[in-house]
Amino acid sequence: MRTLVWFRGKDLRISDHAPLRSAADSGEIIPLFVLDPYFFAPERAQELPHRIQFLLQSLEALRDNIAAKGSRLIVVAGKSTEVVPRLAKKWKVERVVAQRWTEPFARERDRRITEALDVPFDLFEGELLRPPGTLRTGGGTPYAVFTPFMRNLLDSTTIDAPLPAPRSLPALPEGLAKVKEAAIPGVEDLGMKPNPAILQGGERAARKRLKDFLAGAAARYHSDRDRMDLARTSRLSADLKFGTLSPRTVWHAVQNEIGRTQAAKVFGSELIWREFYYHTLWDRPSILEKPVREKFESFPWEFDEALWNAWVEGRTGYPVVDAASRQLLGEGFVHNRARMIHASFLTKHLMIPYRYGEAHYMKYLTDGDWASNNGGWQWSAGCGCDAQPYFRVFNPITQGQKFDPGGDYVKRWVPELADMPVKQIHWPHDAGLLRGGYPAPVVEHKAAREHFLATAKAYFDRE
Ligand SMILES: Cc1cc2nc3c(=O)[nH]c(=O)nc-3n(C[C@H](O)[C@H](O)[C@H](O)COP(=O)(O)OP(=O)(O)OC[C@H]3O[C@@H](n4cnc5c(N)ncnc54)[C@H](O)[C@@H]3O)c2cc1C
Repeated sequence: MRTLVWFRGKDLRISDHAPLRSAADSGEIIPLFVLDPYFFAPERAQELPHRIQFLLQSLEALRDNIAAKGSRLIVVAGKSTEVVPRLAKKWKVERVVAQRWTEPFARERDRRITEALDVPFDLFEGELLRPPGTLRTGGGTPYAVFTPFMRNLLDSTTIDAPLPAPRSLPALPEGLAKVKEAAIPGVEDLGMKPNPAILQGGERAARKRLKDFLAGAAARYHSDRDRMDLARTSRLSADLKFGTLSPRTVWHAVQNEIGRTQAAKVFGSELIWREFYYHTLWDRPSILEKPVREKFESFPWEFDEALWNAWVEGRTGYPVVDAASRQLLGEGFVHNRARMIHASFLTKHLMIPYRYGEAHYMKYLTDGDWASNNGGWQWSAGCGCDAQPYFRVFNPITQGQKFDPGGDYVKRWVPELADMPVKQIHWPHDAGLLRGGYPAPVVEHKAAREHFLATAKAYFDRE
């Protein structure tokens, strides 16, 4: 049998790649990647500069890995809904295989491709530990609360060991060796400058990150993961997003290495938060457009452009918030605790709609992921599945003192405060020590909190 193996950007690996394995076990294979203008037109790519850089590096690594196994990744430019059916016919393939995507626009793309193909289009799991849509409450409905979702997943799922990479792959079928193909562009070709602070893409770099995490921070993950000043999390989120590692590879590696420890349990629960958001998106595709909790649909958010710009650029006068803003723009990453403080500040202190923050994160995060990002923003704003209650407003000063106790996170990203004594670093405004133009606070914490709570209460009381 001749199979077209369509790699699609969230599965950029050859290990634990079920479609590749299935195709390689059944005859001739043609590995394909389509540079769809939906993501790769320069004006679209510039909307996600860090993700594109990581993706292009990962794609190059995939091409090299496939070549090292004896085959070749054919890269073609064009709309995938047109290219895949056309090439499937031209190359006389008997089936097309790919890894399933969860997002609503991807499901629509796959529906259109299934319709256009004359041969079967088989989708394989690989993005999650548990296929989306397969976990239900006792009442048969999708879960809206995390803990019972996690319990059910753990009790009812056998997480199979990952598939090893194929030892070798068959060469491309005769006649295809001379196919005209597109070059993988560099970020410069798409009108951008490479950013050296972005994580290295590709399967090998991903495995090294996993190995380093297991050898170092993993054992104390449960106690250190909230510390913004320490590099004590795995930094695997972009790998999971682009599939340079599969979630079950990460799951089994952690289980094998640190087994039944509290650290493994807490790490596992974070991976399951990712599952929870993916399953939620599968079951409620409308969440990318509107809040999960309908009550929030006409919430009286406010929008002040000057406040928005201060938040985006890291000039709010709240050191931890500003560090997060600048880290996002600088290295395409923000520590999870800092994301929560940052998102809470935007939606509650500044009362700016969460969708502005969500879109800004999707632009600059290297791990920007539709399900987890939407989940994180709706959680922070209080309107999502199992979100924190709307009346919980993070205090950015005490959060900073607790999770960046020596001020190192702030000092790294807000150099104006580099000489500030630790005692004042999370609230430098009263010390009379400010030098170097660090801005005054754009809002006063207590007043902003009270304004948000009063507005929310009046709105919900009216409902
Ligand atoms: C407002 C907001 C936006 C977010 N946007 C994204 C996003 O676009 N993409 C993304 O992958 N994560 C997002 N998160 C979740 C979390 O912040 C990141 O997954 C985490 O910081 C990545 O760092 P790490 O790989 O070192 O995580 P680790 O602590 O090492 O966790 C391991 C893995 O578990 C998953 N994970 C951990 N925490 C969460 C969580 N709260 N929700 C879902 N999955 C989680 C990630 O895949 C992560 O790589 C967001 C959180 C918030 C509050």
